[in-house]
Amino acid sequence: MMLPISGGCACGKVRYDCSEKPIVQLICHCRDCQHASGAAFAATIFVPADRLEYKIDTELHFYDVQAESGRTLRRNSCGECGSPISAHWPDLPGVVLLAVGGLDDQSVFEPTHELWVSRAQAWHPFLPHTIKLEAGPTDDVVRDPLRAYFAARKS
Ligand SMILES: [Zn+2]
Ligand SMILES: [Zn+2]
Repeated sequence: MMLPISGGCACGKVRYDCSEKPIVQLICHCRDCQHASGAAFAATIFVPADRLEYKIDTELHFYDVQAESGRTLRRNSCGECGSPISAHWPDLPGVVLLAVGGLDDQSVFEPTHELWVSRAQAWHPFLPHTIKLEAGPTDDVVRDPLRAYFAARKS
């Protein structure tokens, strides 16, 4: 994988570079992700917030959604063109979820899991090699890899 991972919005007023490999890569079929992506699911990579650098020539638009877990997820989009950019949990500011659609090179995306397959649209097939979960992530999908990543980091 080539670093940094760069990307941005459709109009170019939001750009970013991430100097770290994704910690988690997944597809989520929940209703919230369907709304946020405007498609059948959201494709997302999780990166450390302090390895991500934004260059923003507009305002980001923020909105909060309540996940089915009860947790708040704060999503943002370009204030100019509306492209979804990223999301984070306000109670876990060290981690950013980047929308794969904004990546310059989307071939970096290698999802391991598909979440909320119970909400998946019948008109879209699943990937053959992913682990499918009926509902939200179990600890081994998100919490454990994030914990291991930050525990292993020296700076
Ligand atoms: Zn834009
Ligand atoms: Zn979701």
